[in-house]
Amino acid sequence: MDIMEKLAILSSAAKYDASCSSSGSKRKNLNSGIGNASTCGVCHSFTPDGRCISLLKILLTNYCIYDCSYCINRSSNDVSRAAFTPYEIAELTINFYKRNYIEGLFLSSAIFKSPSYTMELLVKTLKLLRIEYKFNGYIHVKAIPGAEESLIKEAGAYADRISVNIELPSSSSLKLLAPQKKKDNILKPMKLIKNGILEHDENKFKFKSAPLFAPGGQSTQLIVGASPESDFNILSLTENLYKTFKLRRVYYSGYVPVNTSNVLPNVFSPPLLREHRLYQGDWLIRLYGFKAKELLNEDNPNFDIKLDPKTNWALNNLDSFPIEINKASYETLIRIPGIGFTSARRIILTRKVHYLSFEDIKKLGVVIKRAKYFITCKGKYFGDSVFEPLYIRNKLENKKLVENVNIQQLSFFSNLPSSPMNFIKTDLNSRLHGDL
Ligand code: SF4
Repeated sequence: MDIMEKLAILSSAAKYDASCSSSGSKRKNLNSGIGNASTCGVCHSFTPDGRCISLLKILLTNYCIYDCSYCINRSSNDVSRAAFTPYEIAELTINFYKRNYIEGLFLSSAIFKSPSYTMELLVKTLKLLRIEYKFNGYIHVKAIPGAEESLIKEAGAYADRISVNIELPSSSSLKLLAPQKKKDNILKPMKLIKNGILEHDENKFKFKSAPLFAPGGQSTQLIVGASPESDFNILSLTENLYKTFKLRRVYYSGYVPVNTSNVLPNVFSPPLLREHRLYQGDWLIRLYGFKAKELLNEDNPNFDIKLDPKTNWALNNLDSFPIEINKASYETLIRIPGIGFTSARRIILTRKVHYLSFEDIKKLGVVIKRAKYFITCKGKYFGDSVFEPLYIRNKLENKKLVENVNIQQLSFFSNLPSSPMNFIKTDLNSRLHGDL
C-alpha cells in the first residue's frame, strides 16, 4: 500500500478524536532544527462537525485488537486498515511542515498487538522526529492505556502535549461499551503524566536545564451521547479531572453513530448542540469559577439547549439580580450574562474615574441585549418592565440557533448514500482521489 493510501485511511480514522487543540506549549527552534511551537498555539481551524484540521492528525494504525462498540476502528468492523512505520510518519510530518500545510502533528493510534507495543512505536516516532529530524514543532501524542510506565514517561519527554482518552464518562458505560478497557489503566497514565509535569515544574526552579515534560500539559476526551450519563454527570467528572489530574482541557466529542449495536443508542446524528453547551459549561468551570453543581443538579441534569449555561444559571438565581454595575466585584461581574473577562476588567478600570451609565457600558464590550436584563446602572434598570424568569427566558432563548443546529445535524448525514459506513467509505474515496 502506498503512503498516500495509508494517509487517506489513517487521517480519516483519526477524525473522531476531538482533543487536538495545540495551545499552551512553547518550544523554541533548537540546533538549527525545523519549526517552533508558540505559546499562543498553532493556528487551527475546525471542520463543520467541529474537528480540528490544522495539525497533521493521523493514527499510527487503525488495526485494533479491541472491539469498543462505538468505534469505527473496532476489530469486528470491516474497514480498510493500514499502519504507518515511524519513519513514514516522520517523513510525512517534515514534508508537510516544509510545504506549510501543517504546523504540528497530532498522533494517536488504535491498539496494535498490545498497548506497550503500540506505545513503543509512538515513542519511536517521537524520537525520530525530535532527535534525527530535529523537528521542534508542536506534537500532541496519545498515551495508550495499559502501556508500560517507562514508555509513557519517555513520550512525555518528547511530546508537547499528551492525552489519555477516558472516552466514556462512567465505569458502567466503559464496561458495557468498551469491555477490554480498564478504568485503572486509563487513570494510571493520567496520574503519571500529572506527576511528570509537576516534577518538571519543581525542577525548572532548581536546575537551569531541567528536561521538558509535556509542556503543553495533558488533556482527555469524553464521548457525549453514546452512553446515558447526563450533562451533570459529565461536568462533575470534568470538574474532578481538572482538580485531580491538573488537565489543561477536557474535550467533548458528540457521539457519531458509525456502528449499530444493541448497546448503542439509536440516533442518526451527533449531538452537536449538546457538545457545544458542555464546552460552554466547561469554560464556566475552568475560567469563571463556577461549580458543576451550580450549573446543573440531579433535578435539572441537562443543559437547556436554547440558552447558554450562564444565562440559564442567572435565570435560576434571579433573586441575586439585578446587579449594580458600579458596585459589583470583578468576580460578580463575570457571572453576569453578556459580561466576560475583558468587559469586566474595563468596567472596573473605567468606574475608578466615573460612575458608569448604560451608554458607557455599551462602549466597554458588554453584550447589552443579554446583560440588560440582569443589571442596573446608576440604580436604573434597562430591561423590560417585567422582571420575571419566564419572561426573560422567552426573550433570550435562541430559537434561531436551535433551528440552524438541527438543520446542520440533519445535513451531517444527508450525504449518506445509505448508511454511516457508506459515508465513511465515500469520504475515504474522495480523499484517495486527491482531496488531500
Ligand atoms: S481501542 Fe477501542 S476506541 Fe481505540 S481504536 Fe480500538 S476499538 Fe477504537
